[in-house]
Amino acid sequence: MGVLGLGRMGAALAGALLGAGHDVSVWNRSPLKAGPLLDRGARLAATPSEAAAADVVISCLSTYESQQPVLDAASLRGRTLVNLTSGTPEQARGAAKWAASEGVDYVDGVIMAVPQGIGTPGARILYSGSETAFAARRDVLEVLGEPVFLGEDAGMAALYDLALLGMMWSAMGGYLHALALVGSEGVTPAEFTPMALDWLSSVGGFLAGIGAQVASGDYETDVSALDINAAGLAMLVETSRAQGIGTEVPATLRALFDRAVAAGHGAHAIASVIEEIR
Ligand code: NDP
Repeated sequence: MGVLGLGRMGAALAGALLGAGHDVSVWNRSPLKAGPLLDRGARLAATPSEAAAADVVISCLSTYESQQPVLDAASLRGRTLVNLTSGTPEQARGAAKWAASEGVDYVDGVIMAVPQGIGTPGARILYSGSETAFAARRDVLEVLGEPVFLGEDAGMAALYDLALLGMMWSAMGGYLHALALVGSEGVTPAEFTPMALDWLSSVGGFLAGIGAQVASGDYETDVSALDINAAGLAMLVETSRAQGIGTEVPATLRALFDRAVAAGHGAHAIASVIEEIR
């Protein structure tokens, strides 16, 4: 196994492979970072092509821009490249095209975990690209985290990644806004967070129903209409302003909900907002 890139994530990936008993050859621009892995039995490759002597090469660098010169130098013809560097769907598709022209089997992956989670049951890694290469090396990929294959379009893993991260950032933005709001009256994060966690889990329970409405395009509701939620958002923005905190997080949603109401969705379910997003 070859691992290119020993930043926080690359080092965790190489460590998990070593832990599972694989023979691992590692390369990093700054070779000193390899120290702890060498102590655990990894071999230091002096060049990317030395690490690419292995049949499977995992690459995990900061960006596609920093990665391409390393891949060019690695001479990967005939190898399987598992690219775990985060990027856009277009970058992933570009890399798959490049790999095909170089005679490299290409699997694109995105890691839905932090380095400390790699190799633990909670870690999930999404893949797309060559299904043959994915299936052939599934045993190796299972060492890193639960592998989920999303199809032969190499851009799919990156698309899912950005969609899921968008949900995470929205939830975190909402949480931070909530902390600032209750904090403006002296409530501490420790006091508020248990309730926030319960609430987030209730909100998670709504997703399947919202998804079904989006899929059917039937936005009828006997639960909660959009105009009531838009009025609630207006109250949140106004209260935030009155409390002297920023309004950016709810104001963006308020503008979107107001637009959907103006477009005639006031009596519809929140799912109808997707018509405005689209
Ligand atoms: P780090 O900043 O810890 O490591 C970056 C790596 O890229 C290092 O190996 C660094 O080498 C290398 N690098 C950067 N620029 C160059 C260059 N011009 N030439 C050669 N090597 C270069 O980042 P992470 O390990 O955290 O992240 C790596 C990838 O993993 C990213 O795409 C990230 O989005 C993804 N990821 C990270 C997660 C995390 O929680 N950390 C979670 C999910 C995905 P050097 O050591 O020499 O600087």
